[in-house]
Amino acid sequence: MKQYETVIGLEVHVELATKTKIFCGCSTEFGGAPNTHTCPVCTGMPGSLPVLNKKVVEFALKAGLAANCQIHQYCKFDRKNYFYPDNPQNYQISQLYLPICHDGWVEIETSAGKKKIRIHEMHMEEDAGKLIHDEWEDCSLVDYNRSGVPLIEIVSEPDMRSSEEVIAYLEKLRCMMQYLGVSDCKLQEGSMRADVNLSVREVGAEEFGTRTEMKNLNSFKAIARAIEGERERQIELIEEGKAVTQETRRWDDNKEYSYAMRSKEDAKDYRYFPDPDLPPIHISDAWIEKIKAEQPELREVKQARYQEEYGLPAYDAGILTESRHLAGLFEETAAIYGNAKKTANWFMGEVLRLTKDKAMDAEQVSFSPKHLADLLVMVEKSEVSPQNAKKVFEKVFEEDIDPVVYIEEHGLKIVEDTGLLEETINRILDANPGPLSELLGGKDKVMGFFVGQIMKEMKGKANPASVRETLMKEVEKRK
Ligand code: ADP
Ligand code: MG
Ligand code: ZN
Repeated sequence: MKQYETVIGLEVHVELATKTKIFCGCSTEFGGAPNTHTCPVCTGMPGSLPVLNKKVVEFALKAGLAANCQIHQYCKFDRKNYFYPDNPQNYQISQLYLPICHDGWVEIETSAGKKKIRIHEMHMEEDAGKLIHDEWEDCSLVDYNRSGVPLIEIVSEPDMRSSEEVIAYLEKLRCMMQYLGVSDCKLQEGSMRADVNLSVREVGAEEFGTRTEMKNLNSFKAIARAIEGERERQIELIEEGKAVTQETRRWDDNKEYSYAMRSKEDAKDYRYFPDPDLPPIHISDAWIEKIKAEQPELREVKQARYQEEYGLPAYDAGILTESRHLAGLFEETAAIYGNAKKTANWFMGEVLRLTKDKAMDAEQVSFSPKHLADLLVMVEKSEVSPQNAKKVFEKVFEEDIDPVVYIEEHGLKIVEDTGLLEETINRILDANPGPLSELLGGKDKVMGFFVGQIMKEMKGKANPASVRETLMKEVEKRK
């Protein structure tokens, strides 16, 4: 059997998190009753004129600079003409000739190591409306709330070779956009969408094969399955001596198969021309410098700093920086508590466990760093047992309660009541004559058994170290 290599290039659409649309003042908020976030501009009424939202240019620059792109400081908008009911003007305002950002790269990491994926360009454009195909009536409805929401389209070079690389690339972009605050990149809500261009060629071949473009991919899992499915389909065609047709295909994730939507030839003539309603944009050096100066610390830099400054292992630093939001909570907690390593352990253990158990997004986690810091201080001072601290933390995590007050009110504070402790110890020693004689006979192993019993009896309100110490004293008395 011949060996084949998969070649993949992505076109990724990212909705920008501006408050208003790209060419009008309508809200970009997701959802809302149909056609309530609209005006004459974003519904394409004759005579209405677009006015560029400066924030869109700023966000595109932030994204482009973070991805090592060159900037076209003189750039323009072009009209991409096509008819479709979700596109009320009958053209989409996009950029063809002078995209704002071009020739960049991002670095991805897979099991095979690090790799650079080149970015051909990032251009600004407007999103289309949404068609809703009525299941009961024989009609389609249109909602223009999304029409005119700003997008950047990020076009990669055909540098990826596997679904693993594709997912790593998408995760990289998503993380970068979230750190920059330019998009929330939610695949389910469509604020990040990827079209997969894929071809196969024999290993060692110089030329690329004919590619297809797959649309309708709304999760990383669907993307991975679509890549495997389309690769198989193309290899089969080639093995049968048939040709792959360059076309757009729709991936059906339920059937795990892609279907031809349209061939490139007839769909290609968009009759692009510069949009006469929008003046060209000039991006000054000063503006670029200002944006560069304001860029936040990105994940890789943060990850390296956590290793160096806090002495965290690379793995932990990687996990803690996955979400900028969570990293922020961690840094604030560590700053208040004063011990980054212990704070990191708590995040790696409890915070991530609860986030996962509750099927939450890292972005949704929202307790006060001060509350966790206070709790960690109490653990350190042995004012609360580690077991109880975990339970209290669940309350902090869920309702952001004040742990100091909570521990006091629920009687969870460890009080050094030696009288009560001695009494409890003796009661338990008496109740377990068998293990006691073993202990007296020098079998230290049963020590753990007794400590456990005593802690249980004390309902966690004893400090394990003093339990051990007092227990030894009491056993000594019985020798
Ligand atoms: P178009 O403008 O017709 O969509 P582009 O040349 O701009 O085509 O490429 C679109 C995407 O397809 C890019 O991400 C590019 O990397 C990818 N691509 C181009 N040729 C191939 C190929 N032979 N195999 C896989 N991907 C490809
Ligand atoms: Mg394309
Ligand atoms: Zn509008």
